[in-house]
Formats: sequence, C-alpha cells, structure tokens
Amino acid sequence: MKNLSNSNRRSFIRNAGIIAGASLIIPKTFANSNDKKEKNNLFLNGQGDGFYTQKIGNKEITVISDGSLYFPDGFFAQEAKESQLKKIASKNGFLTDTTSVQVNALVIKDSNGVTLIDAGTSKGIYDTVGNFLTNFKKAGFNTSEVDRIVLTHLHFDHFGYLFDKEGKAVFPNAEIILSETEYNFWNNGSPNLSNVTADQGTKDFFISSAKEVIKNMKKQFTVKNDGQEVAPGMRMIAAPGHTPGHFAVEMEGFVYLADTFVHPWLHLPHPEWSSKVDVDPISVKASRKRILDKVSHENILVAGAHANFPSFGRIAKNGKGYDWKEIPFEW
Ligand SMILES: [Zn+2]
Repeated sequence: MKNLSNSNRRSFIRNAGIIAGASLIIPKTFANSNDKKEKNNLFLNGQGDGFYTQKIGNKEITVISDGSLYFPDGFFAQEAKESQLKKIASKNGFLTDTTSVQVNALVIKDSNGVTLIDAGTSKGIYDTVGNFLTNFKKAGFNTSEVDRIVLTHLHFDHFGYLFDKEGKAVFPNAEIILSETEYNFWNNGSPNLSNVTADQGTKDFFISSAKEVIKNMKKQFTVKNDGQEVAPGMRMIAAPGHTPGHFAVEMEGFVYLADTFVHPWLHLPHPEWSSKVDVDPISVKASRKRILDKVSHENILVAGAHANFPSFGRIAKNGKGYDWKEIPFEW
C-alpha cells in the first residue's frame, strides 16, 4: 500500500477546510470554536459510550457511533419550501437553522468472522465526528480482527478510518468490498458531478477524498455488483443515485439501508426530496421507493447510516411516504 505523503495529508486537511469554509458542516451555533459556553451547554460533559449491540439471528450487530454532522437547513431537501422544513422541525423538535445527521457504522460478528459495514469519518474533518475508532475499541473490538469491510459508497463519512495520518491501513487484515460501479465512477479522471448542487469546494472535496481512499487502499479492494454476496450471508442491493454505486446490504432478518434515506424525518415523509450532494437526484427517488417499499412490505428490521443512534427501526408505508418506527434502546 502506498503511504499518504505529507503534502497529500495537508491537501486532505485543506480540502476539509473548504467544506468548513463553505459552511457545509459547521452550524451557526458552533461556527466560532471559541464559543465554548454554547457548546458546553449543548454537550455538557460528553455523551454515552457510543456503541449498541443487537443480536439478529446468528449475528451480533453492533452499531458504532461516529458522532453528528451539521448542515444548513434545506441541504437534504433541496426541493422543500422553507415553511415545510419549519413545520417538520417544529413537529420533531429539532433546531430550525441547521439539520444534524448522525453518523453510524456497523460491526457484524458471526461464525464467518468480523465484518465492518462502513468506517466513520476521519479525525480532523470536524470536531463533532471522528469518534468511530474510539467507540469501536470501547465496544471490545480490535482493528486486526476485522476480516472484511463493506463500503456502501465512497463518501468521506463512510470510509474515514480506513487509513491513518501516515497513510497506513488501520485494518491491516481486512478485505475491502465495494461496488464496481462506485469504484469506476470515482476512479475516473473527472467524475461527473454536474447534477450535484452543492458548491464547487464541496464537490472538489468529495472527489479528492474519494480518489485519496482509492489510491491508498486499492490493494485491499474487491469489487462486486448488484445481487452478489459482499460478505458471507450478506447481499448487495444496488441503490444508485446518492452515488452511482451506492448500495444497501441485505442479510437474514435485517437490511442495512446505508444512505437510501439520509434524514428519517425528511426523506421518509417526503421520499421525493433529495440532498445537495446526490449525484443523480432522480435515481435517488427511484432507489428509495424500490427499497423502502420492499422493507416496509416485509416489516423487516433496518438501520440507516444517518438515522438517530442506535439507528435500528422499521419502515411503515404512509400514503405517498413512510413512517420511521424507531426501535427503543434496550439495556
Ligand atoms: Zn453518508
């Protein structure tokens, strides 16, 4: 594996800065990092332990929290009117000037070993995310025991912990499985983001970070296609749109939806709303409908990469949209 040079590392951090500069992930309330009082009021002394395990069939599925990302209002619902967003915000009791999404990844343990699905956001992007590795270790796992990592797509909040500051593989023994379509899209000289409505700095960051993970990790990559096994007993359900090769993962009694919806309170009642980073907003809606119709019809347990921790729930059809039925914590 090729090491990440210092200049590449600097460019990675600088590109992360572009996002911050474009106020993609910095909420107004946190924009000034000196505003400790505001932050302390919100987060007090920090939160709980950041992992949660559920047994499903013969698998132990542990959700690892990486933290939360903050976006300007409307970022995930570019077709929505301001009044619609305000109504949803007040109904669900969240802030009206920013939308937060949580970032989760899964560790699945069974007789076939240890499989990760996604791997959080790396350190240095923003200080409310980047907790994946700490929480993974707190949950009792170690990096060398991971046999495979299934990457649902090549966005920075899903592959963050694959390599460290020096460019060394964090999970040295893991095969990394991703979609062939996804690999080809980002590995292309200039990926086509013409339907992405986020600003140019954000687009540049998505491209450079995807190319960086390919460059550093491709020796561990295996590519797969729709319907194929991505890990023993786990099958790819292609869900193109958010990115061309984005996919959900189906296993017995459970479907990991990844970013089929990003925000449950926005995209379930309004599956027609798309995000400013969606590569193909039209396909997003078609994939969302196909997969959410299936999981709601089967009433199967699901989890979403950005649903509220611990992110387990079920989907119920409601008119043209869906309801999110969150599964409560059980201790
Ligand atoms: Zn995501």
